[in-house]
Amino acid sequence: MLIAETIKGTVINVVGLTRTALETLQRTETFRCPQCKAPVQLKIGTVITPHFAHKVASSCRELFTEGESEEHLRGKTQLYEWLKTRVNHVWLEPTIKNFSQRPDILVLHNNHYYALEFQCSAIKTALLEKRNAGYAKANITPIWIFNTPKFAYYQGVVQQRLRKMYQYTLPHTIFYSPTTKKFTYATFLYRLYHNQFLMRLAQVSLDRQVFPLYQPKPLRKTQAEAYSRSYTSGYKRFLHNCIRYPRGNSAKRLRRCTNGLYLSFSELNRSFPVFLPHTLGADVVWQTELALYCKEQKIWIEEVEPAHFLTTFSYIVSDDNCKAIRYYCENIKGISAYTLTELFAISHLQWENKTDN
Ligand SMILES: [Zn+2]
Repeated sequence: MLIAETIKGTVINVVGLTRTALETLQRTETFRCPQCKAPVQLKIGTVITPHFAHKVASSCRELFTEGESEEHLRGKTQLYEWLKTRVNHVWLEPTIKNFSQRPDILVLHNNHYYALEFQCSAIKTALLEKRNAGYAKANITPIWIFNTPKFAYYQGVVQQRLRKMYQYTLPHTIFYSPTTKKFTYATFLYRLYHNQFLMRLAQVSLDRQVFPLYQPKPLRKTQAEAYSRSYTSGYKRFLHNCIRYPRGNSAKRLRRCTNGLYLSFSELNRSFPVFLPHTLGADVVWQTELALYCKEQKIWIEEVEPAHFLTTFSYIVSDDNCKAIRYYCENIKGISAYTLTELFAISHLQWENKTDN
């Protein structure tokens, strides 16, 4: 924590304090946690960021996004200092009345509250969900910023396995590195299969960042071409693996389809990217399953009832999955006329907008 209160209740923020001031505080004051009121101590090493820590392990720590790693303290400090120059109302580690969660940073901008969470350690998506539900109830918009993982120090179009927590903030994920003082945007996250994603990585330095945060730009033509190439190679690799490992779940699903549709694997030569967050996995599988479903149900693709299809093929029936299925079924006839590059270059924004209502 960077905030504590004295026994008299005075709030002390250690960000920006000189070493002398910190030493005086440490010598003369007794501190407690603003949230749980348990005693905390001021830690001022030569290398570490000055901070407060609970003297004994406390359940209060769980109310924070995480414990106090050096990375987290540094990032939080930098983001707080930066926000002070961008918005009028910003609070570090605020204790909010009648609210058990304590965001890293709270911002009031245009009459709306935003909670910034700088997440450095692994966090379960169930916990992310719980925190977001809490914020939603309090009418606060959460902004999750993750500590930059190794792969995100690059720029360009890449294929990468993404941890579940990063997927939680789809359609894009924002990283921040306290070392380089740069944000990395992983945008146009596109699920190839399992947790393998196609994405564009782009960086913005802290001094150029604005609040509310920059929104990603559309893909440039060369980037759309890179997506198209990467999608094709991912598609081929996926099919190849299905042939090599016929006992895998995807391979079994696909074989059921090819048998039912009297097709061979080599006749499956195309699938269509749907730029919506979903957990359906490889396009070629669920799209071929849709074809089989229509055949078995004796219906046209436009008549597919998303939830029924998802249940029949044992997918999770979520809003995101239904949206993706609905979008595909309603538009496949139109989009099949496009080349992959065109789909990546032109359609994604329209697709996203279209599904907002
Ligand atoms: Zn506490």
